[in-house]
Amino acid sequence: MLSITSYGGVNEIGGNKVLLESGDTRFFFDFGAPFKKRARFFGEFFSPRPGAGLRDLLETSLLPPLKGILREDLAGKDLWDKFAPSARMRALSIDGVLLSHAHMDHSGYVSFLRDDVPIFTTVMTAFVSKAMQDSAPPNFEKEVCYSMPKGVKKGYLRSAGTYKPRPFAFVDSPALSEEAQDFWYSSPTRKKPLSSETYRCSPEKVGGLRFRFFPVDHSIPGAAAFAVETSAGWVAYTGDLRFHGRASHQTEEFVEEMEKLRPRILLCEGTRLREKRGASEKEASANCLEAVRKAEGLVIADFGARNVERLVSFYNIAHETGRNFVIMGKDAYLLDAMHLASERVPSISDFPDILIYKDFKSRLPSWESEIHRRYADKLVLPPQVRENAGNLILCFSFADMLDLIDIAPRVGTYIYSSSEVFDEEGATDMRRLSNWIDHFGLKRIGLPRAELNWEIPEEEKGFHSSGHACGPDLLDLIRRINPKTLIPIHTEDPGYFTRNLQDTGIEVRPPVEGETMTFG
Ligand SMILES: [Zn+2]
Repeated sequence: MLSITSYGGVNEIGGNKVLLESGDTRFFFDFGAPFKKRARFFGEFFSPRPGAGLRDLLETSLLPPLKGILREDLAGKDLWDKFAPSARMRALSIDGVLLSHAHMDHSGYVSFLRDDVPIFTTVMTAFVSKAMQDSAPPNFEKEVCYSMPKGVKKGYLRSAGTYKPRPFAFVDSPALSEEAQDFWYSSPTRKKPLSSETYRCSPEKVGGLRFRFFPVDHSIPGAAAFAVETSAGWVAYTGDLRFHGRASHQTEEFVEEMEKLRPRILLCEGTRLREKRGASEKEASANCLEAVRKAEGLVIADFGARNVERLVSFYNIAHETGRNFVIMGKDAYLLDAMHLASERVPSISDFPDILIYKDFKSRLPSWESEIHRRYADKLVLPPQVRENAGNLILCFSFADMLDLIDIAPRVGTYIYSSSEVFDEEGATDMRRLSNWIDHFGLKRIGLPRAELNWEIPEEEKGFHSSGHACGPDLLDLIRRINPKTLIPIHTEDPGYFTRNLQDTGIEVRPPVEGETMTFG
């Protein structure tokens, strides 16, 4: 008997937490942070209390009440007495999480899983996740790779001890180089490395079940789809994917493999069902190149952090237009981590026209001092950016606007090459970003507009390429894979699949959150 229960990603884009149970094996496809659900109760400066552990997250249903899989050190006193009466409460143990990629809406709430639950993923996803965690301020909602244990002191949960690494199982690597191991074991405090032997390589099974992974094209490197062989047949999970990036051949190969495998069940994302196909990564890059050619003075490129494909596009644009490419310390740290994960990612040192922005900061975190030491000859200060503005592309985003005060650009263009606005919080940020851009008198391109209900003007839509396939592309993928049952996930419109797959004989079963579907 096979059963599947979705505890997130149901009628929602992101927050995927899909529990699969077959025989004695139980595991999750992803364990993501549900941003939209979270925004119902919390905001940027109003977050679940670290000192209350799991309590606030269970109260607001951001976590499922599954005793036995969540961190016991965050339970505090009497937690389960409070949540035990819930009909959804269950006690169970799991064999791991198959993690599709390093976006927080898929990986974030791994933070709350017991620290002995293994995370099966690609080396790239693991290293990108670690670089992101290392270079961000401590946050108990973002402890994907290692966590700070807590203990009760005076009725309140407080940090106790040193960081504990999670066990990872790298699905695509036979071994790690010594340098890569040093990075993986390094602690954010650097005083003491995280304990060693926290990973294993090339696992073939999760619990007692054989699985396969397939690299796919998405807006973050390392993304993978999975298929697991159960007693009822193969179950495939797409994660997030697209067909219009530079690695589109990978998604294509995944579909070809699935055609051969004929899965019993396909869990498929549905983020952008009603939108047009939109610009491909190549088209977006060509449009940005054109804009930079015409630009005077400083060019600021704003693309989602970790969108490394776009970062490479802008580097190529800088190279072609004779500008130097200025990245932030955290981008350099991420690129170094990616280089350690895969030799296909070149080293920053090989590119003399990549520079690293050094802001005015009194005290640097240890990872940033390390970057400054490693690339001392590449550092540029705000006055140098001001003086050489016309010869630079600067990779900034909303979070870096205060640095523009130090730079005080005389003339410039701000290219917004990132995703559209999804919620109120995004709209608030966008309003503030627009105000900063106006404040500095910069020309804006590709920015969502308040007067268009935060849409990007039609003629400026081609400066970004989405990380997700559009509806017709996904229908084509599903028809070709031809599973017996399709479970739509990571979508606000599961009915789209029911309506559009009627003629195929494929059974579409939209999940209900927390309800178990069984398959013979
Ligand atoms: Zn994603």
